[in-house]
Amino acid sequence: MNVLLIEPPYRNNFPPLGLMKIAAYHRDFRNDFVYFSKGKLTAAAPQIAWDRVYVTTLFTYEWRRTVETIEYAKTLVPAGQVFVGGILASLMPEELAVETGITPMTGLLTDSAILGFGDRVNIDRLTPDYSILNHISYKYPAENTYFVSATKGCGMRCGFCAVQTLEPEYTPYISIAEQVREAESRYGARQNLILMDNNVLLSPHFERIIEDIIALGFGRGAMRINPQTGKPNRRYVDFNQGLDANLLTPQKAELLAKIALKTARIAFDHIDDADKYLTAIRIAESAGLDRLSNYILFNTTEFSGKGTPRRADTPHDLWERLRLNVEFAESANARRKQLGLPRFEAYSYPMRYAPLNATNRDFVGNNWTAQELKNVNLMRQLSKGVVYSRRPFFETAWGATAEEFEARLQLPRECIEHGLRAKLSQLSVKALV
Ligand code: SF4
Repeated sequence: MNVLLIEPPYRNNFPPLGLMKIAAYHRDFRNDFVYFSKGKLTAAAPQIAWDRVYVTTLFTYEWRRTVETIEYAKTLVPAGQVFVGGILASLMPEELAVETGITPMTGLLTDSAILGFGDRVNIDRLTPDYSILNHISYKYPAENTYFVSATKGCGMRCGFCAVQTLEPEYTPYISIAEQVREAESRYGARQNLILMDNNVLLSPHFERIIEDIIALGFGRGAMRINPQTGKPNRRYVDFNQGLDANLLTPQKAELLAKIALKTARIAFDHIDDADKYLTAIRIAESAGLDRLSNYILFNTTEFSGKGTPRRADTPHDLWERLRLNVEFAESANARRKQLGLPRFEAYSYPMRYAPLNATNRDFVGNNWTAQELKNVNLMRQLSKGVVYSRRPFFETAWGATAEEFEARLQLPRECIEHGLRAKLSQLSVKALV
């Protein structure tokens, strides 16, 4: 078969791992020709007749571009030969079927029978084919990264999170050694390791997972010789989907400190989680993890977070959570200075909530207005998407008090832009050194 894999032309950070696994299946188990395209085929694509097209899907708010891509795929192959899967497809299968006439595949691709083949291969567990992306680059490039999963699922069922639909069962241990070794032998060694686990701290085998990471050459301080320059480069490990604050214990933090963890990502979903969150980052910092990044969910309705009902958040809650990070970093750094330890850094990423079936980005939470959300977005843009924990930067970009922040949310765009752009650019060097 000639198999075409298409990712719609939206912007995304990670390569399409699902399509990379489908590529591995078609090449290794069926000896098929496989080609990957980001969006429509270009003149550089092979000029051949395609037998089958797979379209992956991601953000529901990319609905329009996704539907257009599926319609395009339908023009390339006979009826019944377009297969659609991925996140949007799993969250909104009925809506997508009505819109495109194609019934999508939902959840993980655990059996090749879903694709109409009888060899019963668990495609989700295959090593992704890293070679299909040679002409496309992503923020996390496949050419220098191993993408693996040591667990699947989560089980916490937070109301705003898609994992309960995408990976409903929790799998507590998958050998990453096999995934890395196979990727290395087939596609060459990679510099860094990204674990796509949704809740690795839930695993009773967490210690074994850390041992696997160290055995693969990703212990703390690990270096690798760059084959191009001959110089050693620092390696890093990233639990990209974050670490659960509720489950971080001193023992687990000490295990994390043994690997080349670049940044400990810990979510701070609601102001009512403040105590648990602060306990978790205190544990992380005490264990020697000196770089923290946190996702701050805002613009919500009422939701259930890890089984606890949460009220809809407010602008005040958003500012307060950012402030807590700044204060924590300040006190940690005062202590570290006395002890001669490296600085502790905390980066906050305000993340705008949208319902799991939102087909655009316009959703406005109960305690927000569209104008306020636009202004938060502008402040995020002006501070390059991240809220640094250094006070001069924080107070300039986000206000010295919650009241100042709330007042700023009411200003016309131009006022914020003119007021902040120059101040932030003056600060950008001073505040961050
Ligand atoms: S703990 Fe994280 S991964 Fe698990 S359901 Fe909640 S938000 Fe999703």
